[in-house]
Amino acid sequence: MRHPYYHARMTACPAPRGVYVFAMLPAAPTGRGGSRRRGASGGRDTPVLLFPASVPEDRLLDGIAADDPALEAIKAAAEYVEIPDLAARAPPIGFYALHDGVLDARNDGAAHPAGAAHPAGAAHPAGASGWRSASGWRSVELRALLPSVFTGALEGSLSRALRAWHIFQWRRESRYCGSCGSPNADADGETARKCPACGRMEYPRIAPAVIVLITSARDEILLAHNRAFPPGLYSLLAGFAEAGEDLESALVREVREEASIEVEDIRYAASQPWPFPHSLMIGFTARHRSGEPCPDGAEIEDVRWFSRENLPALPGSGSVSRYLINRWRAGELP
Ligand SMILES: [Zn+2]
Repeated sequence: MRHPYYHARMTACPAPRGVYVFAMLPAAPTGRGGSRRRGASGGRDTPVLLFPASVPEDRLLDGIAADDPALEAIKAAAEYVEIPDLAARAPPIGFYALHDGVLDARNDGAAHPAGAAHPAGAAHPAGASGWRSASGWRSVELRALLPSVFTGALEGSLSRALRAWHIFQWRRESRYCGSCGSPNADADGETARKCPACGRMEYPRIAPAVIVLITSARDEILLAHNRAFPPGLYSLLAGFAEAGEDLESALVREVREEASIEVEDIRYAASQPWPFPHSLMIGFTARHRSGEPCPDGAEIEDVRWFSRENLPALPGSGSVSRYLINRWRAGELP
């Protein structure tokens, strides 16, 4: 069955499970320079999910009912996009993309061009549920919805929301052909962009990153404090796979670079899509073989062994890092 990838309007799509409304809000720089956030679009935009205040906060990932009258305010300002769900015979996933505007809360949801001065009361990112508009619309950073849900297997509505979010960002960044510079169009029948001039196809990017729970012979784990982290927070070592590497080589290299130690007995443990903007986190366990942990002094400020009894502040439970640490703490890993 041929899935329509894109509709200009939602008239032909019942989308019974709800649609999403996404926007990138321009934000003030955080002043947290120096961290390598691969693919981050300048580090200044804040990705948000928009929703009418009538939607309960614990149902945000289910989306907005397609016939919700509140969507009328969005339709004139946003582009409607529909992508196939990955589940067999499931209805497509729909979302509205406010590519070049933000919602003006004082004007019933009308969009204003990015770059123009945002009137007071316009959307501002401020963590979870950051603003409440006059027209009853609110925004939440999609990332803020994650911490309570990752358990090693994605729940359906979370998977759909992350998929829609990944495609939203990719479409923003694939407006022009990378070969000849012509404006891209949506491809027919698959989730891809196609250049009308030279025929080049572009597919959503997914950047694999490895993350590893390293255990010592004394039953400790290796945790690192990255300079981009809040003070006192430690997490597992992680890094992107480079061109020409397999995942095991990437893991060995990252651990060597960031902590100056060698590991062995590398085993796959879990994975997690992390579309901020387009990662796939692939979690492993490994055992310490040799070397004393020593931070690289650049990205990693501190790295050391921790026992179960003296664990520091850890990442939120929505992360694969915390998931692996929790399983180790429960005696389920490695
Ligand atoms: Zn082209």
